Amino acid sequence: MSGEEAAPDFRGIGVSPGTVFGPAYLVAEPIGVDAAEPAGSAADAPKVAQAYQDVAAELDELAARREGEFAEILAMTADLARDKGLLKSTLKQLELGKGVTAAVYNAVAEYALMLESIGGYMAERVTDLQSIRDRVIAKLRGVPAPGVAHFAEPGVVVAKDLSPAQTADFDLSKVLAIVTEFGGPTSHTAILAATLGIPAVVAAPEVTKIAAGSGVLVDGRTGSVWADPDPEFVQAQLVAAQKREEFLASTTGDGQTADGMPVALKVNIGTLADAQKLHEADVQGVGLLRTEFMFLTGAQAPSIDAQESNFRGILEAFAGKPVTVRTLDIGADKPVPFIDQSGEENPALGQRGIRLCQANQELLDVQLSALGNVAKENTRVMAPMVATVAEAKWFAELARAKGIANVGIMIETPAAAIQARRLMERADLDFVSIGTNDLTQYVMAADRLHPALTELNDPWQVAVLELIRGICEAGQATDTHIGVCGEAAGDPILALVLVGLGVYSLSMSAAKVPAVRAALARHTLAQCQELARIALAADSASEAKASVSAQIAETVALCG
Ligand code: PEP
Ligand code: MG
Repeated sequence: MSGEEAAPDFRGIGVSPGTVFGPAYLVAEPIGVDAAEPAGSAADAPKVAQAYQDVAAELDELAARREGEFAEILAMTADLARDKGLLKSTLKQLELGKGVTAAVYNAVAEYALMLESIGGYMAERVTDLQSIRDRVIAKLRGVPAPGVAHFAEPGVVVAKDLSPAQTADFDLSKVLAIVTEFGGPTSHTAILAATLGIPAVVAAPEVTKIAAGSGVLVDGRTGSVWADPDPEFVQAQLVAAQKREEFLASTTGDGQTADGMPVALKVNIGTLADAQKLHEADVQGVGLLRTEFMFLTGAQAPSIDAQESNFRGILEAFAGKPVTVRTLDIGADKPVPFIDQSGEENPALGQRGIRLCQANQELLDVQLSALGNVAKENTRVMAPMVATVAEAKWFAELARAKGIANVGIMIETPAAAIQARRLMERADLDFVSIGTNDLTQYVMAADRLHPALTELNDPWQVAVLELIRGICEAGQATDTHIGVCGEAAGDPILALVLVGLGVYSLSMSAAKVPAVRAALARHTLAQCQELARIALAADSASEAKASVSAQIAETVALCG
């Protein structure tokens, strides 16, 4: 085979764009339990507790050498190593007579099961927990922590899964790309790789079968991985990727269609560190600040002062550009330690988002006060998971009473989509933002985290597009601004359809903005409207995508 198209040997989810080629470094598997160790007892407790403490201290040290999100994640892992519950269940294992490494292993397994049963964000913390286990066991066995010991030259890290601690151990200047067998788009590996600008593919089955040292080509945009590909093919792919990057970089500035219809291009962020990193990026503000990230780890909700200073920093970083703050969306896949949700049989349909805030009004009251105290003219606020007029009115009145003038809601439940106009009118909303991640899961009745339901969980589903069309019509009738802040906004081809349906602003992760901007610049509003008609006429998500793509093959090749 030459420079022609070659089917990838492995396919995963591309979570950080970029095409690179280099030798594979396989991350060594952890050493595991010592099969020959003597039975344990309570007398071993100090030794085991010390090993946890030492690992926590090492992680703190690694955190101190990094900054921003990377440092935060490492510090969070260090806290997990100090977790009293984890130590207690390890000591219980020792009392049962398990040897020291088996005790750690079993206690972590128990804890991991609990996190997995919660699902979502918490389930993805299992990797962090296992990295603590492997470090503690390595310590107890007196061997070095597992990982890539030494990079002779720049290469591609291939692993079953990677914890932030392992990533922190790498010489990042030598990491060309990261490829893992497990992990999802919201795993820490994915978040860190995107933050560090390292191309990455996660959830690529069997990828660890790649032989150490063999050449690996990685496309972090499409999630394709080739093992030992033909050199001409590699060259062709690298050249094509370079051209694509140059093309995307050639379109800059505010988003607009080819005929000049403005479409604001904004970013989704979660932390002050994100805001500080992106404040000079070529984007038009923040379309979604996921505030729950401030609440996920602490034993208590952050104080009003802490929240104020966080908001102040973010608003200042984006001074002069709109910042859309979403109030707490905890519950379901984002539980917090200080609210017991163990009774939830069906968390995604349970007390999450605004429902949880209505049941714990103090939480929302403090959050809105903190925001109101530092709000500027660029501040917008919206509530997640609204389903009724009463909720929308309650929220809008509360937010305005706190001095925040620009108030909206997310539309991510079918109930809100169907009665969008009523909600806009009754609550006198200034804007709505469509959360296509949840809207798709609820319209299609398909858990957004379920790996077997990805086909249903596709925002190209015509039922979802129909609802978006209706929301846009309601927006036009009531003069309410319509944006999209779910993952759909970052798909350059679907973004054209959304604009054709009547969406005026798109918010996505920062890395996705250039391709969306370039795609918009290639098509007029009338063309986008035609693409929307084609998508709505399809019988399935795949047909909608294929029919639209067929109309604009060159844009798909350049930006898709
Ligand atoms: C959405 O549901 O589309 C959304 C943007 O919110 P989140 O992904 O945080 O639930
Ligand atoms: Mg949502």
